[in-house]
Amino acid sequence: MEDLEPGAAVLSLFSRDPYRKLKRRIGAHKVLDRDEDRLVYAVDASYTAPPGNHDPDLVILCESTEDVIEAVLFAREQGLPIVPRGAGTGMSAGSVPLGGGIVVVTEKMRKVFEVNANERWLHCEPGLTTEDVKQAAAKHRLLYPPDPSSYRISSIGGNVAENAGGLRCVKYGTTKDYVLGLKYVDHEGTVHGTGVLADEPTPLDLTPMIIGSEGLFGIVVEMKLALIPAPKATRTLIAHFAETAQAIATIHTILPELVPSVLEFMDASVIEAIRGHDPYPFPDGTQAALLIETDGERDVCEREAERILEVLQEAGALEIHTASDEAERERLWELRRLVSPSLSRLASGKMNEDVVVPIGRLGDLIDRVALIADQYDTRIPIYGHAGDGNLHLNGMYDADDHKAATRAHDAIVQCFKATVELGGTISGEHGIGAAKNRYMNLQFSQDEIDVLRAMKSAFDPELVFNPNKVLPHSR
Ligand SMILES: Cc1cc2nc3c(=O)[nH]c(=O)nc-3n(C[C@H](O)[C@H](O)[C@H](O)COP(=O)(O)OP(=O)(O)OC[C@H]3O[C@@H](n4cnc5c(N)ncnc54)[C@H](O)[C@@H]3O)c2cc1C
Repeated sequence: MEDLEPGAAVLSLFSRDPYRKLKRRIGAHKVLDRDEDRLVYAVDASYTAPPGNHDPDLVILCESTEDVIEAVLFAREQGLPIVPRGAGTGMSAGSVPLGGGIVVVTEKMRKVFEVNANERWLHCEPGLTTEDVKQAAAKHRLLYPPDPSSYRISSIGGNVAENAGGLRCVKYGTTKDYVLGLKYVDHEGTVHGTGVLADEPTPLDLTPMIIGSEGLFGIVVEMKLALIPAPKATRTLIAHFAETAQAIATIHTILPELVPSVLEFMDASVIEAIRGHDPYPFPDGTQAALLIETDGERDVCEREAERILEVLQEAGALEIHTASDEAERERLWELRRLVSPSLSRLASGKMNEDVVVPIGRLGDLIDRVALIADQYDTRIPIYGHAGDGNLHLNGMYDADDHKAATRAHDAIVQCFKATVELGGTISGEHGIGAAKNRYMNLQFSQDEIDVLRAMKSAFDPELVFNPNKVLPHSR
């Protein structure tokens, strides 16, 4: 008698089950075909999937590389597109199965193969959360620095696929700076190693191509990540300003002298939103705030913090609150974490876009956004990782008011145009996915887009992975 997976006897009663063979091969519990299970995988954390029904045909919860291979081969057999998915916290509809397809989830692949403290690396599967990776490193007094605000929920595989950034990017860089090598499953179900995980030396390291490729080239199943010694000390403060220009001038004074580990900006609307939820005593007249942190060796950290305080006083900050212990530090961080949920309560609709401009153009971008907000009668609060030019622009609108939604959308498109004119880019960390591919032409020439298309075809000639994402539809 055949060796059946648990549950297979029941399945044989339903011999017309189209997924029977697959369930037998990998285990029925990994195959979600019931409506109520599949629907959960029709969305991610973005608001921006194009209109339409995006219920997946099938969801496969992979627990190993072998499962991923089976999933890819099965999708190919069925002629269905493959949508790789980690934790579904993406903000650009990258893991939304546009019009259907097979969602291949790596969230349950959670092995840490090894942490090598001497050589400072960690080798793992993609389903760990970013926090899991940080904790595994911290046990050895090491740090995995990339820290998207979603670090408690996003998967490390999703971070690699999106080249996730975060609050400490200004000093430590983004995910791409920590991936030493990876393994991915291609469109034929073959596993390839890159960088330090390549089976044999290759003339070309494909690691940088896979990082940030948003699931277009294959499914990442392993990664080896570089770690650094954990900083010994941290100093955190928040400064309030009566004028946005003072905050921007402060950034321009600090950055040529020293690199803080966090340099976050909040504008007046963001502060107003937080005030609605938290009794933190923002001084009256605060129009902008900077959350700043330094870290490193204790003496260096203290010296840097002292210098930052001087700069803030010279810039005429209204008030500066310095955290004197871990509880106060946590209190200041809490304000930063409150930004997104507080904004959601300012209006029922929110388009959260992340753009980047060269640091020197931060002030120009903020001015341009203010003009656009007036012109389109749309509130656009701004906050984000000012230290690396990455700002989050939020087009707020009443979700029941179609005209307001259209105005907010048009305003955001103008913000994208302004960003590009200022030498910037339309996504800093959230990716393009299915949310921004229609705006790729604002930033890239047809020749550049053709190069991207050629890269996609080289990795995935039959365009099975994440079709209709990143690349604009029309030529
Ligand atoms: C509250 C909140 C705060 C956030 N803050 C930040 C931030 O500070 N910085 C930042 O960069 N992002 C941030 N994000 C966005 C998001 O968390 C990141 O993009 C994250 O990297 C996505 O990880 P995920 O596992 O959820 O990926 P998913 O949403 O599941 O997928 C994202 C993309 O990666 C692809 N993908 C996922 N797993 C794999 C894999 N194993 N192999 C190949 N492709 C794969 C998918 O196809 C999709 O295109 C935030 C999101 C939220 C909800």
